[in-house]
Amino acid sequence: MSVAFGTQGRGRRALKWFAIAVAGITIAACGRYAYERREQWRSDLESRCMSSGAVQMTQFVQRANTINGPGTCGMDYPLRVSAQARGQVSYNRPQTLACQMVPTVDRWIDNVVQPAAQRWFGAGVVEVRAGSYSCRGIRGGRSGRMSEHSFGNALDVFAFVLTSGHTVVIRQHWRGETAESGFLREIFVRACDHFTTVLGPGSDAFHYDHFHLDLARHDPRWTRRVCRPRPETVQMLQPAAPTNNFGFGFGR
Ligand SMILES: [Zn+2]
Repeated sequence: MSVAFGTQGRGRRALKWFAIAVAGITIAACGRYAYERREQWRSDLESRCMSSGAVQMTQFVQRANTINGPGTCGMDYPLRVSAQARGQVSYNRPQTLACQMVPTVDRWIDNVVQPAAQRWFGAGVVEVRAGSYSCRGIRGGRSGRMSEHSFGNALDVFAFVLTSGHTVVIRQHWRGETAESGFLREIFVRACDHFTTVLGPGSDAFHYDHFHLDLARHDPRWTRRVCRPRPETVQMLQPAAPTNNFGFGFGR
């Protein structure tokens, strides 16, 4: 009996270790599988956007070939975008973006950037100098968490060219108390209403010369947003009152 019990005990122990080993291998395989595949929400977001009609194919927005890899990089429906806001605001070079980024950038330009440019400069924005798709990790290399740029889900903005020809450059104009700085701070803070991640000068060493805008899913419910520097720490400025040369005012 005791031998049988002992054998049974060893058998159970062996079975237990076997089960743990199988579980371990399964977890490792799942982890690897997950690592090698793009997350499902990315495909879902892209296809929902494509079928929603939120983006019209025009001479400024065109379909490009699916990008698959290296690794998890790529997107199902890359769009080649040469201009935003119905062609009114060109990119310095065509950008490769996932569908959901295009209407979001349009809304930011229409509702925030153009009105701010009018208030600060009495001019519109005609060109944005930017960068987009790039298969890389968050810190530049291929290791660690992948950047949203790897999925066409991010835009880096470096400068704005106005209808007057004047160019507002983040690297030069973020600091100080100029109209350029006031304009940049306003459109930065209000970008946080449109994108789920907004990073600018002061957030870290990588963003001293551009705004990083993306639609990352920080949590399954899409509630968490990352905005750095934090909007409440950004010193906002007011445009100088317009000079009134015609002798009539606003009455008070
Ligand atoms: Zn970026």
